[in-house]
Amino acid sequence: MTHMRTLTLLLVLTILGISSCSVNKNITSYSGKKPKKIIFLIGDGMGLTQISTLFLGKDNTNNFKRFKSIGFINTRSGSHKITDSAAGATAFSCGEKTYNNAVGMNMDSASITNIVEVFSGRKYLTGVVSTSSITHATPASFYAHAKHRKLQYDIAQQLLKSDIDFFAGGGSEYFHKLGADIGLYSWEIDSSNSPSWTNLSFDPNKRYGFLSAPDGLPNMLTGRGDYLKSASLAAIDYFDNKPYFLMVEGSQIDWGGHATDYEYVYSEMQDFDQTLGAILDYAEKDGNTLVVVTADHETGGLSLRSQSYIDNNGNSRSDYDKVEAGFNTGGHTAALIPVFAYGPGAQSFQGVYENNEIYNKLMALMR
Ligand code: MG
Ligand code: ZN
Repeated sequence: MTHMRTLTLLLVLTILGISSCSVNKNITSYSGKKPKKIIFLIGDGMGLTQISTLFLGKDNTNNFKRFKSIGFINTRSGSHKITDSAAGATAFSCGEKTYNNAVGMNMDSASITNIVEVFSGRKYLTGVVSTSSITHATPASFYAHAKHRKLQYDIAQQLLKSDIDFFAGGGSEYFHKLGADIGLYSWEIDSSNSPSWTNLSFDPNKRYGFLSAPDGLPNMLTGRGDYLKSASLAAIDYFDNKPYFLMVEGSQIDWGGHATDYEYVYSEMQDFDQTLGAILDYAEKDGNTLVVVTADHETGGLSLRSQSYIDNNGNSRSDYDKVEAGFNTGGHTAALIPVFAYGPGAQSFQGVYENNEIYNKLMALMR
C-alpha cells in the first residue's frame, strides 16, 4: 500500500513535470511532540548586527530575547559564496542549494518540490505574507518554479494556481496586467492599499489574496504602519486552528541594507520585531505552534562601531559610549545567520548547519 502510494505520488509529480530530487535530503526522523502549526519568519538581509540594533537603546526589550533554541546557518548558494534571496529562500523551501536567481529550481533548472506542495498534500493550509511584492524572490520560492526571479508575471500566474490558501503583500501590477483569465476568479482578492484587517471575516471555503500596492509595499519610514503584523494575524485568523504552514517575510530589512541607510534598516527591524512579538504571544497561548525565525543572508555588512575622535595629543581614539552604524557594502555578505526557534520541535534547530537543512528539519516535524 505504501509502495502503491509512492508510485502514485511519483506518477503525479512526473505528470506535473516536477522531478524528485537527486541530491540526498537528510530528512531525519523526529519522535517528540510535533507542532500542529508552523510559522516561518524570514528577515530578508537580517544578520546578527541587524538584530543587535534592537539592543542599542536604554530600554532594549525586544522579542528575540524570548528564544532559548538558537542555531546558525551557512548561507552560501549552489553557485556563489554569497547567496541572493532567491537561492536563499529556495534552500529553505525546497531543501537544495541552487544558483543565484533560481526560484524553486535546482542547479539544472528543473523544478523541485517545495514545502508548500508537500504540506498542502498532507492537508495543511498554507500562506505567505511579505512586505515586498508577493511575487518577489523570497515569497515566490515557496509556491513557484522559475528559472529567474525577474519572471514575476509568470510567478503571479503560478501563485493563483498554487496550493497557497492565503497571501498578503504588494504586486498587484503583476496580476492585473495579466488580464482576467488567470485564475483570479477562484480567489477573494482585496486590492485596497490599506486593508481593514480588524473588520475581516473569512469564509473557510474561499482562498484570500491581499495585493496592497502595485509592487513593493511602502517602507516603514514612509508610513507602512503595522501591515506585517496585521496581515500575519489575519492569516492566523483565517487558518482558524487547522494545521498550517505560514511564511512571513520582513522584506525590506534587505532594501535598507542595499540603500546603506541605517534608519531604513532600524525601522524595518522594529517592525519585524513587533510582528515577531505578536506571533510569539499567539504561539505561547496556543502551545501547538512552532515559530522559526531566520534570514536568507546579511545585507550591507552592517557594523555598529564606536565613534572616533581626536584627543588632546592629536591621536585618534574610539569613544565606546557612542555607537554609529557603518556599512561595508551595498550588497549581501557571507556572514553566518542565526536561527531562532520556539515551540514543539524547536530544539531541532540548534547547532551549526547549512541553510538547506532548515527544509529537512521542517519536514521531519510534519504530521
Ligand atoms: Mg525578500
Ligand atoms: Zn538583497
